[in-house]
Amino acid sequence: MKTETTIQGLAASLNPARAARKIIGFVPTMGNLHEGHLSLVREARQLCDVVVVSIFVNPIQFGPNEDFDNYPRTLEQDSQLLAEAGCDIVFAPSVEQMYGKSPRLTNISVSEITEDLCGLQRPGHFDGVAVVVTKLFNIVQPNYAFFGQKDYQQLAVIRQFVRDLNIPLEVIGVPIVRAEDGLALSSRNGYLSEQERKTAPVIYQSLKNAEQALQQGEKLSEVLANIKAALTQAGFVVDYVEARTPELQKIDEFNQEIVLFVAAKLGSTRLIDNMQIKPTA
Ligand code: AMP
Repeated sequence: MKTETTIQGLAASLNPARAARKIIGFVPTMGNLHEGHLSLVREARQLCDVVVVSIFVNPIQFGPNEDFDNYPRTLEQDSQLLAEAGCDIVFAPSVEQMYGKSPRLTNISVSEITEDLCGLQRPGHFDGVAVVVTKLFNIVQPNYAFFGQKDYQQLAVIRQFVRDLNIPLEVIGVPIVRAEDGLALSSRNGYLSEQERKTAPVIYQSLKNAEQALQQGEKLSEVLANIKAALTQAGFVVDYVEARTPELQKIDEFNQEIVLFVAAKLGSTRLIDNMQIKPTA
């Protein structure tokens, strides 16, 4: 496995593969890798000839009071995990390499689907994601790009601008990887105290309970209220509990496939999760 820290170096590493018309798979990450990230790498390994993983903590997707400075940076450990998972090239650029010294005057902003859920509490977040992902797509020029359904709204935003801007690649969504107790794996889980870590799976449990209640005919509004109540009782400060269509349109009834979304804070750690639920025939 090679590690490249410059755009030029990455191009030099990838050019022979491009010339030989190899299929290039790309997995963008912010590092501090866990099994969730590695499932994307394994999926890429299966579909592609060359697997590129980027590790870049992107400053412009963090708000002023968010955790950019404290975000865990564990490049050495990440490299070992990536080598084992079958990655060919790690791209780990500096902020300067990605953004240069002169000011950036271009933004990429997806409307409507960024205006609620995480977009409400994190203004500018999805613009920052759209800009960095577009830059990375242009730098790597992959055939396939892999993203986790854990960040469902992010995946929808990326699919949208790839379609709207005719970016020539295919986006592949990969299912959420969870700990044994149901907690969705996340680099931010490392911020949780021992006690908070024990409480955190309540998110998944309340989503599972919601699924069962919906299948038994309970009203969607009541089910959402019950999730909120369960989280509040467990000590979370709820940001949102919402139901949407898979395309993120608002919905009042469970009469088609829906996605339940949760964002809640435990202490100072903000956790998100979601669950796709189909009516049984
Ligand atoms: P991050 O490093 O948090 O920016 O995540 C990089 C990629 O890994 C994103 O596409 C995430 O959606 C994906 N990812 C993170 N956690 C998980 C998980 N538990 N299961 C599946 N994919 C995940």
